[in-house]
Amino acid sequence: MVYQYDICSFLILSLILVSLILRKIYYGKQHRIFLIFVIVLLLNTLCDMASSAPLSALSSSARYAVREVGTFVYFILHASILPLFTIFMGLSAGTWYKYIGTHKSVKILFCLPYAINIAAVLSNPWTHAIYRIVDGEYQRGDLILLTYIVGFIYALHSIIYLKKFRGVLDRTSIFAFVSIYPYTILAVILQYIYPNNMLEMFAYSVAVMTMMIFVIRPEKMLNLAVGSKTMAAFWGDVKNIFLSERNVNFYIIKVNSDSSIIKLYGINMHDLIMRELVARINAKVRSKLAKSVLYDVYYLNYGLFAVSVEGKYASGDMADLLYEAVSEKIHTDKFDLSLECAVCEIAVPRDMKSFEDVMNFIDTFEKSSAVTGVFIYEKLTQQEKIKMSFDIDRYIRKAIENNSFQMYYQPIYSVKDNKFVTAEALIRLNDDEVGFISPADFIPAAEKSGAIYDIGNFVIDSVFKFINKVEKYGVQYIEINISAMQCMSDSFVEEIKGKLMQYGVSNKSVNFELTESASEILDDVLRRTVTLLHAEGIEFSIDDYGTGYSNLHRIMSEPIKIIKIDRSLICGLSDDKARAVLADTIKMIKAIGIEIVAEGVETKETAQWLIDMGCDYIQGFYYAKPMPEDQYIEFLQKIS
Ligand code: C2E
Ligand code: CA
Ligand code: CA
Repeated sequence: MVYQYDICSFLILSLILVSLILRKIYYGKQHRIFLIFVIVLLLNTLCDMASSAPLSALSSSARYAVREVGTFVYFILHASILPLFTIFMGLSAGTWYKYIGTHKSVKILFCLPYAINIAAVLSNPWTHAIYRIVDGEYQRGDLILLTYIVGFIYALHSIIYLKKFRGVLDRTSIFAFVSIYPYTILAVILQYIYPNNMLEMFAYSVAVMTMMIFVIRPEKMLNLAVGSKTMAAFWGDVKNIFLSERNVNFYIIKVNSDSSIIKLYGINMHDLIMRELVARINAKVRSKLAKSVLYDVYYLNYGLFAVSVEGKYASGDMADLLYEAVSEKIHTDKFDLSLECAVCEIAVPRDMKSFEDVMNFIDTFEKSSAVTGVFIYEKLTQQEKIKMSFDIDRYIRKAIENNSFQMYYQPIYSVKDNKFVTAEALIRLNDDEVGFISPADFIPAAEKSGAIYDIGNFVIDSVFKFINKVEKYGVQYIEINISAMQCMSDSFVEEIKGKLMQYGVSNKSVNFELTESASEILDDVLRRTVTLLHAEGIEFSIDDYGTGYSNLHRIMSEPIKIIKIDRSLICGLSDDKARAVLADTIKMIKAIGIEIVAEGVETKETAQWLIDMGCDYIQGFYYAKPMPEDQYIEFLQKIS
């Protein structure tokens, strides 16, 4: 017998085992099963040697004992290899629970062949059905085929599994798992042709090495800087939770001033703080859950954390506890710091039906900058969800499908003409389920989802169609809000030109409003669009002036006709200092020859003061609220 291959196998497997232990790759079910798999193969290799090595130095009775024990343990361990492999594959894909289901009968069915195999080996000392030791040498028993059949059944399980869930595993993992078949088949064939070469264990050890290289990737799963699982691990786990139809509660934790922490203290201190937070989160969760309950803590970047707890173990006050843990003062040797945070509990699949829903939720939660406190998703009202922009995409899609957006018009008073010669077009969404949804809530969501292009087209079509109906009342132009995202689209200029033609609208009849925040990022693409449209004779306004950081010097160099001073600056006019600042602002804008619209004017006094200061146009509830088309026409008829 040639057992050199077993020695090679022994070396490979012990190296892998040492590497797993030294690198502490035994957390999590997947890694633990892999560790057991390696140990079983290692012992199996030893038994293989014991049952076939020459052992000529031993007395015949000692040799008999070694053979007998070695072979017995060999068959017990050997029976476990393929079941363990299948389970390891299932846990790596994360869909093991889906495959094996929750029914006891399925589990029993899966274990049955294994149990029969083990029973046959256990009874072998009496039956000698599997093997016998004759003259100190191994001989096959009559039922040896049974072990092959059982092995085949588990190989079949693993193949069915791979076929069923191949979409869940990445390519490298599939490669590693599939490689076990050619390795072992080749080994069995070679062993058949050259019976003296014991290749099977060697084939397994090469397969394990392949898995070690391709499947076990702790660096992808663990964020060593903060001591938690990574974002990649999070998305993988979320996907698997849906696939295996488990109930899991997530606690999403957001630290609001994350970017300021990086800017002020640097990335190293930031990581230290995040590390401290992970430690606190871990301690809190552990103190709350029984020792045997598994949970995970993930760092999703940008001051965003997630904790997952199996649904049935999640307790009612977990979100509050996590909030406490994160907002408690952080002491460093240089400074103390209190962080503002928000915690939201979501239950999957109760609150979110798909992987995409969770993705959208995390995205909006991360960006809803103002929220702090504790939220239980299930308990939020529909309006609260919309305020936090959760779920809003659904209503936008619905409104687009049902064509249920509506345009309102808010007349704007011209001081020079002493007439309402213009109006701002404002979109409205009235949902039949939840009622009125403010554009201030759905426009940002639409920009994120891309629905802004459909909405933008609707706005342009509606306004262009409408303009001809009001020109006869002396309306000179309509102000249309344009999102910077629309302007970034390459086809925007051509579309506008086409629509002006299509509806027979003059370029002088429209004025596009871009928000100040858009004008701040007036980058090459946006600037090109503005320049091209300006060349076509379309004028632009800067909206919400005073809410950002733009300076007049920059605006001066852009083709801007009007600046709309934001409502927040107009509201504070009872304050002397605010009034002085605004007076100066108006003076500066006038000095560079740009016209001014004052927004959000609600009282006669404010309107008069702004007129005295030299504002060209006044817009606000004092004169008129936004109104639907027919009312706007009535309004115009009444005053003309
Ligand atoms: P905005 O462009 O600054 O529009 C002015 C907002 O102020 C409107 O709110 C208007 O109803 C409100 N407003 C006007 N006068 C007064 C007043 O005297 N007092 C108070 N408290 N509010 C006044 P609205 O219609 O809710 O729109 C909110 C924002 O949504 C708009 O702010 C604009 O940024 C966006 N938006 C509205 N319609 C469109 C649209 O068709 N396209 C795009 N891209 N954005 C739109
Ligand atoms: Ca506007
Ligand atoms: Ca505005």
